Amino acid sequence: MADRIINILTNASYESKKTAERLSSSLLERGFKPFYGFDGDAELSICIGGDGSFLKTAHNNNFPRIPFVGINTGHLGFYQEIIPGKIDEFLDSYMEGKYSRSQIKLVKADIYTKNKVFKQYAVNEMVLKASHSKLVHINVFIDSNHLEKFSGDGLLISTPSGSTAYNFSSGGAIVHPSLHVLQLNPISPVNSSAYRSLGSSIIVPGGHTISLVLEKRYASANLLLVDGAENFYTNLHRVNLRLSNKYITKLVFSENSYWNNLKDKFL
Ligand code: NAD
Repeated sequence: MADRIINILTNASYESKKTAERLSSSLLERGFKPFYGFDGDAELSICIGGDGSFLKTAHNNNFPRIPFVGINTGHLGFYQEIIPGKIDEFLDSYMEGKYSRSQIKLVKADIYTKNKVFKQYAVNEMVLKASHSKLVHINVFIDSNHLEKFSGDGLLISTPSGSTAYNFSSGGAIVHPSLHVLQLNPISPVNSSAYRSLGSSIIVPGGHTISLVLEKRYASANLLLVDGAENFYTNLHRVNLRLSNKYITKLVFSENSYWNNLKDKFL
């Protein structure tokens, strides 16, 4: 019989490393083959840490198809459903197939600079800003329709799963992960007799393209935050964003976990 490999991906904290040791022996007791790191033949990846560890794991392994589940040793742990004290219960439920699958849809950005086009994917959000905290001026198009000329700190485009992160702190709405939409959220929009743009976020169908075209006169925006990681581009001209066909799969063990998680983590 083929080995049942389970990846263990952990951050470097003391608690995470101890949790990984306990997880590894519980997996061995049940006949699984734990692998520290990412093996493409594994049936499951278990990520130990906080949301940051989960995001890093997804990016570093190019958003793998292998489903994952998170054990939370971080602060909030929105993506990390399992608590370290419940490892055995979680493994029993896994072996009995008592779980559902939830798709985490990614946002894709095509980034056009003067000489090159770059591609980026994010789990939570992309934020287009100016470096050095300058005001940015961006023409916003939905498909080919001009919507507004935005002036402010930046524009945040979040996935449904990312809507509870930076988007929520910036006054955006919480969007259930089953919905196929993106949210365009202005960060500190300027509204004066000189500049006028929408002051609240817009929910855009996932199949539509949000184009952010930098005002040539200013061309100040060149910082794209991708799940919090900074990416600087010179001669940035346009960023096109859509909900991607790529997704990652999370196993969910408790019923109604989304709503319970929301209440637990935010109220
Ligand atoms: P970090 O350590 O600064 O963590 C930011 C916080 O965001 C953590 O508490 C984390 O648990 C929480 N978080 C991440 N994804 C979440 C989600 N989908 N729903 C609810 N909370 C979530 O940074 P990091 O760990 O590298 O994470 C990067 C993320 O941080 C970015 O994707 C962004 O959403 C978030 N962030 C938030 C703010 C803000 O709220 N003002 C500012 C910058 C970045």
